[in-house]
Amino acid sequence: MSEQQPESVRQAWQDVVDTARRSAADGLVVGTSGNVSARVGDLVLVTPSGVPYDRLGPEDAVGVDLEGHQVLGDLGPTSELPLHLAVYRSTDAAAVVHTHAVHATAVSTLVAEVPLVHYAAALLGGPVRTAAYARYGTPELADAMLEALRDRTGCLLANHGTVTYGDTLDQAYDRTAQLEWLCHLWLTASSVPGRTPALLSTAQLAEVTEALKGYGQHG
Ligand code: 13P
Ligand code: ZN
Repeated sequence: MSEQQPESVRQAWQDVVDTARRSAADGLVVGTSGNVSARVGDLVLVTPSGVPYDRLGPEDAVGVDLEGHQVLGDLGPTSELPLHLAVYRSTDAAAVVHTHAVHATAVSTLVAEVPLVHYAAALLGGPVRTAAYARYGTPELADAMLEALRDRTGCLLANHGTVTYGDTLDQAYDRTAQLEWLCHLWLTASSVPGRTPALLSTAQLAEVTEALKGYGQHG
């Protein structure tokens, strides 16, 4: 099947594999934990379930349609297919990243919403929520995630990990990295005995959201 793939699919698969490898190299997952997907039209490319990312080559592309029927590849898709497809069905995301990043997962066991210790929350659309616990790979987990993702581009999954999405794999990945950093920051600040971190107000966060529209290089 691989020789017949259009260039856009071949390139998107390479990007999925590169992103999955990066998540392991950056310490956001261990072994075959986590999963990555990208949408090309009606095709969703996903990492296969339980296969080490360094073993994936161009011929291992796994693709499903938006109903979850496998239309490309021989390896079985990630067990979190319901979660990935739920994001594509309810947003205009082009990429989804799921990890077990350690600080974010620690925070998911502690709070229903990540306290506003830093304006980085604006990069995820506002205060990041924790989705209620449900077993990995279940439609119940996908439902809980969608609730936590309302007006956000990322959330925590209770006692499990992170989910972020974006217009590109790089954007989805960067949001995961920022979320992990934010959770690390809150854990660090809230671990000082006898002290409680100061928090930003929602008005201060809204001000950042406006300012960020002009952030970076333009033209
Ligand atoms: P897969 O190997 O099936 O993608 O599962 C990893 C995972 O993180 C499940 O939540
Ligand atoms: Zn997981």
